[in-house]
Amino acid sequence: MKIETLAIHAANHTDTATSAVIQPIVLATTFERDADGGYSKGYSYSRAGNPNRNALETVLARLEGGADAAAFSSGNAAGMAVFQSLKPGTHIIAPSDMYHGLRNQLKELFEGILTFDFIDLNDEALLRSTINADTGLVWIETPSNPLLKITDVKKVIAIAHERDIKVACDNTFASPLGQQPLTLGADLVMHSTTKYLGGHSDLTGGALITAQTGAWWQRILQVQQMGGAIPSPSDCYWLTRSIKTLPYRMRGHTHNAQLLAQFLEQHPQVEQVLYPGLPSHPQHELAKSQMLSFGGMLSFMVKGGQEAAEKVLSHTKLFTSATSLGGVESLIERRAAIEGPDTKTPQNLLRVSVGLEHIDDLIEDMQAALEAR
Ligand code: PLP
Repeated sequence: MKIETLAIHAANHTDTATSAVIQPIVLATTFERDADGGYSKGYSYSRAGNPNRNALETVLARLEGGADAAAFSSGNAAGMAVFQSLKPGTHIIAPSDMYHGLRNQLKELFEGILTFDFIDLNDEALLRSTINADTGLVWIETPSNPLLKITDVKKVIAIAHERDIKVACDNTFASPLGQQPLTLGADLVMHSTTKYLGGHSDLTGGALITAQTGAWWQRILQVQQMGGAIPSPSDCYWLTRSIKTLPYRMRGHTHNAQLLAQFLEQHPQVEQVLYPGLPSHPQHELAKSQMLSFGGMLSFMVKGGQEAAEKVLSHTKLFTSATSLGGVESLIERRAAIEGPDTKTPQNLLRVSVGLEHIDDLIEDMQAALEAR
């Protein structure tokens, strides 16, 4: 089945009790035992499992081509379960440009428990020399947040797998429509489902999808069951509902982002545009070789530094000045302002989550903001 069909049908079955064509939300926290004390329907207690969560996990696994999936209460909770699943002392190699929330989670919560290095994963010699006897995980994020750097997924996996090191990929920016890391050989995919999968800026969630259901995956599931970072049945329902339109939304996001990137690139007030779909992107060819589409995220640097960038921000009307991404409405943010004092993100960089408004309106709004006096 193609991804559009999977998105609609993989999780949804007509309800046997009522013939409702849409799965009802099951709010129960506990389920009745059989006479012999077992749970033949598969559910016992809500932290361990719920029909809406199960449906969501089914469609997530199918969209990424995985063997199993686990839905979490946020993207950070999903990332945290991965790090908590590792033996104390494990060394992680992560990209120098990555979502600052997960980088800070490692630095502030796992200091003294795990060790880590943040490097340019495309530097093959550096990657090889950073691997040590304790390295257990390479964490990839591509395209990266907020510099839209592309990591050569297959190359990193080949190097890591030579040493039996697991590879996880944060696929939030690309979505399963933009890139399928498991098919490129990754062991694990992570999503902040708060973003494109949710798609409407109205729910917080995360997901892990695994290539194999062996010991490492069982440990991750144990971390989730014991830690309890689960999404509510209602959030699972809404997410499953949103995923049905994901393929069409991603087409719209990608179409709009490509045209907005092209507009920005020729605008005299713009210093540089970072979008993997532009031939000027330094890794455009690599992006073309591993991505199915380039997605809806772009960043650009405004001429005139921080002040000029702030001026653009304050003049956009359709692009709301807000954090996060992946919703139908366009958002804009000066990332350095929220990444803290040690940020390496240029002060004049604006990150844009390109929404599904008409592209003519978006370009008109951006043009007016760039030219505002
Ligand atoms: N990964 C990326 C690339 C993100 O952009 C985010 C959030 O912005 C996360 C992970 C964390 O997700 P959440 O906010 O759902 O915890």
